[in-house]
Amino acid sequence: MDRGAQPTAPDLAVMQSGGAGGETTVALLGSTGSIGSQAVDVVRAHPDQFRVVGLGAQRSIDRLAEQAFLLRPEAVAIGDDTLAGALAARVPAGTEVLAGVDGLRELASRAEVVLNAVVGFAGLPVTLAALHAGRRLALANKQSFIAGAPVVQAVRNASGGSIVPVDSEHCALHQCLRAGAFGEVGRLVLTASGGPFRGRTPAELHAVGVDEALAHPTWQMGPQNTVDSSTLMNKGLEVIEAHELFGIDYDAIEVVVHPQSVVHSMVEFCDGSTVAQLSMPDMRLPIGYALGYPERLPHPFGAIDWTALGRLDFEPPDRDAFRCLALAEAAGRAGGHAPAWLNAANEVAVDAFLDKRLPWRAIAEVVEATLAQCEAGSPVSVEEVVASDRRARSVAGAIVDDREWAA
Ligand code: MG
Repeated sequence: MDRGAQPTAPDLAVMQSGGAGGETTVALLGSTGSIGSQAVDVVRAHPDQFRVVGLGAQRSIDRLAEQAFLLRPEAVAIGDDTLAGALAARVPAGTEVLAGVDGLRELASRAEVVLNAVVGFAGLPVTLAALHAGRRLALANKQSFIAGAPVVQAVRNASGGSIVPVDSEHCALHQCLRAGAFGEVGRLVLTASGGPFRGRTPAELHAVGVDEALAHPTWQMGPQNTVDSSTLMNKGLEVIEAHELFGIDYDAIEVVVHPQSVVHSMVEFCDGSTVAQLSMPDMRLPIGYALGYPERLPHPFGAIDWTALGRLDFEPPDRDAFRCLALAEAAGRAGGHAPAWLNAANEVAVDAFLDKRLPWRAIAEVVEATLAQCEAGSPVSVEEVVASDRRARSVAGAIVDDREWAA
């Protein structure tokens, strides 16, 4: 095992909260986005099991207020503090309104289980606050976990908090790892759908547009994650996430393209046995798994119809056509500031692509050129992670602005 990594045992051990017959208190942060909205469906389907005590969002006050009327939490939090007054006027009487990053943090410390579904690097304070408070973190924000890994791991190891991943591949690995001991793990096999551009050559990818990149074949997600799936950056970030979550060396983490998205990932054990987790591609399953762990929810979100399944295909990823995968794997191996720089450069490049200021093929170029300027060493505090992220964004932004990107 290497830096910052820990065996799976602490997070796979019997949970320290909820589950003992009573209801589990839950805070949903990033509740108005794609994962957050599906989490609302899950908790509403299990009213006896979960009590939502907090809901938080960055800016979507109308949606947040609607959810507050449905779930009646004790408190709501809005990341953009200028919207606190408007939110207060919309939520049920008596609901406490918290504001700013401190408000999101406060909410993350109040429940037994905290879903972090905030988008991107902005999720870091929520992850840290939940772990600091010793809570179970249902993690749907890989970006901040990866960027802040040196700091997050230290808090995770010291606080008694635990992480159950919501990312479908990592939820699958978490389930498969329950079949053996940490020392018996041979390798992790992460599956990738291949995204909308699977099978295309670099020449065929030269002029792909925003609409094409946003048309994911199997998963409904937000725009950042969908573009990340089209470049395979999502899978690259997931390789780093798997390493950090489960403490498995990069040499023992493999990526395989599986277009049907039914096998969500696999663990090969030392005797050659491979244990896989299969289910229909429906995020409500991993959300429910993370909220209910170690119990399984008695509601078959996405049961498989084996008569209709047909076939399951597997193929190696094309690292030449999808360069972001190898860039991410290299940044993960480099460790230190590199994962934060990788993530920041990618977020800047994807924003520019969605704004039509950058062609799709240049996302990898921006990430590569930004990483070439990455500083040595490793962040040791939240402030250093934030500063590292900010420097990387400024470097990436300058690369996007200063170069000529022919359409
Ligand atoms: Mg995933």
